[in-house]
Amino acid sequence: MLTSARNIAILGATGSIGASALDVISRHPQRFHASALSAHRNVAALIKLCIRHQPELAVIADSALLDQLARGLKTAGLQTRPVAGQPGLIEAASATHCDTVLAAIVGAAGLPSTLAAAQAGKRLLLANKESAVMAGPLLHAALRAGGGKLLPVDSEHNALFQCLPPSRTRFDAPGVRRLLLTASGGPFRGRTREQLAAVTPAQACAHPIWSMGRKISVDSATLMNKGLEVIEAHVLFGAPIEAIDVVVHPQSLVHALVEYEDGAMLAELGHPDMRTAISYALAWPERIQSGVSFLDLAACGRLDFEQPDRNTFRCLSLAYEVMSAGGDAPAILNAANEIAVEAFLAGNLSFLNIPDLIESVLTAIPSAAVSDLDTLVHRDLTARTQARVMLRRFCN
Ligand code: NAD
Ligand code: MG
Repeated sequence: MLTSARNIAILGATGSIGASALDVISRHPQRFHASALSAHRNVAALIKLCIRHQPELAVIADSALLDQLARGLKTAGLQTRPVAGQPGLIEAASATHCDTVLAAIVGAAGLPSTLAAAQAGKRLLLANKESAVMAGPLLHAALRAGGGKLLPVDSEHNALFQCLPPSRTRFDAPGVRRLLLTASGGPFRGRTREQLAAVTPAQACAHPIWSMGRKISVDSATLMNKGLEVIEAHVLFGAPIEAIDVVVHPQSLVHALVEYEDGAMLAELGHPDMRTAISYALAWPERIQSGVSFLDLAACGRLDFEQPDRNTFRCLSLAYEVMSAGGDAPAILNAANEIAVEAFLAGNLSFLNIPDLIESVLTAIPSAAVSDLDTLVHRDLTARTQARVMLRRFCN
């Protein structure tokens, strides 16, 4: 622990966001210290990161691997204390020796630790968009109770945060009219339904611009990522559905825009590299070097914009529909999507059947009010079970 530095728990340290965050942290050793690191099952990768960053706590989410982690840390001669499972993640998110938590676990598995960090009043750097999608009201209640600050890491939301008035980074700030998220369009932009019938997981994960984990890569290919981000914008900035729009921008240099009543639009531009958003959230309200190179606009040449094809990429429309339905419908959509993506990646569901499966689950499970975490976790499990049963109808 460094007393003068910001002590950061990185939940999801072995992932793509985790690696970008650790890169930024390594560039500012006087300023930042990784005080806790977590991984799902990759003990070797976690130990390697512990040797490099010397955190106080290491969390392995799969509890069966705790002994292996403990032995590895001991062999490496580290003082790092090993913990495991959701209790271990929650301990890391709320430990007194850390003041900042980067929530970078993928999927619903990140929800309890995200809420714990908010409840404990930490500076919460939110990459795990699924938490905001599933549990907007619970997240706001936890932030109010803890008195901490949420800083969005998702590049579009980080850009919106930068383009909204600094005194009030909410949709209801004076003069704000519309939030506009850009989408790269993913690897299948411009394709027809016929051309998408036989696409493979490898093709879906080969994103033309961003280098990311496999789940979010598939979400980008279906446009569900943008759908989840529309819901995330609604939750984080309090914008009504009709004031959040999406525009496809293949170069991914403009990350989002805020439209004002006087006709002005403020945009945030930069290379598509998550280290800019992460360093802004880490150092806010200051700005620091992130390792990202500077944009040469003349070399970029042009910026293109087009409407998303909502008929071919139906996941985006499904996200708007669940926002209208309200309650826990976004959590049901998220759970069904996680099962659909897992099945697609395993070769058990076709790309075009991803929205079909999600829609079937949403029809089978009408939305209910979001009351507390236990109820929400139960609803999430119900939706997953329903999705697995319905998957058989679509199996290849
Ligand atoms: P990733 O798959 O590369 O990494 C995920 C991390 O979560 C890993 O450390 C993994 O060990 C951990 N993890 C996976 N399943 C877990 C479980 N069940 N329990 C505990 N830990 C688990 O994913 P990523 O691309 O880094 O994305 C992380 C989050 O950030 C996602 O919510 C994603 O939507 C969001 N995000 C990512 C990017 C990006 O550029 N990669 C951009 C914006 C938002
Ligand atoms: Mg994004």
